[in-house]
Amino acid sequence: MRFFVTTMAPERRNSTSRTAQRLAPFGTSIFGEVTWLAQDRGAINLGQGFPDFEGPPELADAAFRAMRDGHNQYARPMGAVPLALAISKQVERDHGLHRDPLTDVCVTSGATEAIAAALLGTLDPGDAVLTFEPFYDSYPAITALAGARFDTVPLHFPDFRIDFERLRSKVTPETKILLLNAPHNPTGRVFDDEELESLAAICIEHDLVAVCDDVYEHLWFDGARHRPLASLPGMGERTITISSTGKTFSMTGWKIGWAHGSARLVASVFAAHQFLTFATAHPLQHAMAYALETFDGPWLQRLRDEYEQRRQCLLDGLARSGFTAARPSGSYFVMARHDAFFDAADDPAEPDVAIARRLIERTGVAAIPPSSFYREAVSEGRRLLRFAFCKRIETLQAAMDRLAKGL
Ligand code: PMP
Ligand code: GLN
Repeated sequence: MRFFVTTMAPERRNSTSRTAQRLAPFGTSIFGEVTWLAQDRGAINLGQGFPDFEGPPELADAAFRAMRDGHNQYARPMGAVPLALAISKQVERDHGLHRDPLTDVCVTSGATEAIAAALLGTLDPGDAVLTFEPFYDSYPAITALAGARFDTVPLHFPDFRIDFERLRSKVTPETKILLLNAPHNPTGRVFDDEELESLAAICIEHDLVAVCDDVYEHLWFDGARHRPLASLPGMGERTITISSTGKTFSMTGWKIGWAHGSARLVASVFAAHQFLTFATAHPLQHAMAYALETFDGPWLQRLRDEYEQRRQCLLDGLARSGFTAARPSGSYFVMARHDAFFDAADDPAEPDVAIARRLIERTGVAAIPPSSFYREAVSEGRRLLRFAFCKRIETLQAAMDRLAKGL
């Protein structure tokens, strides 16, 4: 992505023609670019999805305790046993899924590594991955590293419902994986029972492995409860479910994630994980085992209640400034149409990039131009911006004031 060609982040300037051809088309991740520019211009960053508040303070104590207790050498590669146990209990408690902690769980360095390990561990060159667009930016890059084909079905603004006719038409004999992110970044969709049942039917009919990126599993609103695809009849054995603690405990920098599934599928994830990172930061795993054991039902409900307020603050502010936003029922992102602000002086080829740049420069608010999350419906992506609401209410209010004044 070419976000700001004249004042690029230093690390981007250093990327050279020595970069592998498989990766060259992906450039620098838009998240890093927007955050760099927001910092450089002193903008309020509603771009990259990371909280500007701390997670539970007890977690730092638990991490120190684990360090002092000597959990400082390589962890068990599949995951420190207390964390694997805590994950298996959480999955049973929240979703009724039985996963053996010793064979059915693989702890990874964030969901990002779990996605990479799941795709690299199950795909052969020539296979195909089928997913939805807009998509999370690591999906096509990892698919390319695996030598596989990346195919997408658009979800259209503002409802972002799945078009099953399109989806069925895209399943080919090469399709090995259906990759589903739910709740969905960046659209905020929580797929309903009917959609999940149809997805399960397609996976079973075509013998697909479902790779489910459920990192926002606890962030759903308006009664639209997240239901993992793995919990549908016939799906437990063919689904690799991925999650992490970054969003749930507001500690995106700790990068503790995991994949769970049948022992057979998790063995494939592990086949790649052992050569990607081998094992994940050991004391932080112990701290996150404590987190999963301690912060359950009522704590998670409070988290959702707080997020609902933040969501409302962002939706109100965007409406006040003239954006047309889709109301998300999950995740912590809002997609909004920016047509009202586009003028002839802006770059007609990449209006989302032009508007995002203008917002940072003129209003001091950063948002993500989402066109790089699209393939087929890229012209739709260019008419949108993604705003994150994982910020303190004061931050969101200040950002909304800036938008109202600056636009
Ligand atoms: N998948 C999605 C959809 C995400 O939004 C993110 C990060 N925000 C990740 C995966 C990566 O999670 P992690 O930080 O645990 O690697
Ligand atoms: N998942 C975060 C987002 O969607 C960003 C993570 C990253 O920077 N790779 O904003």
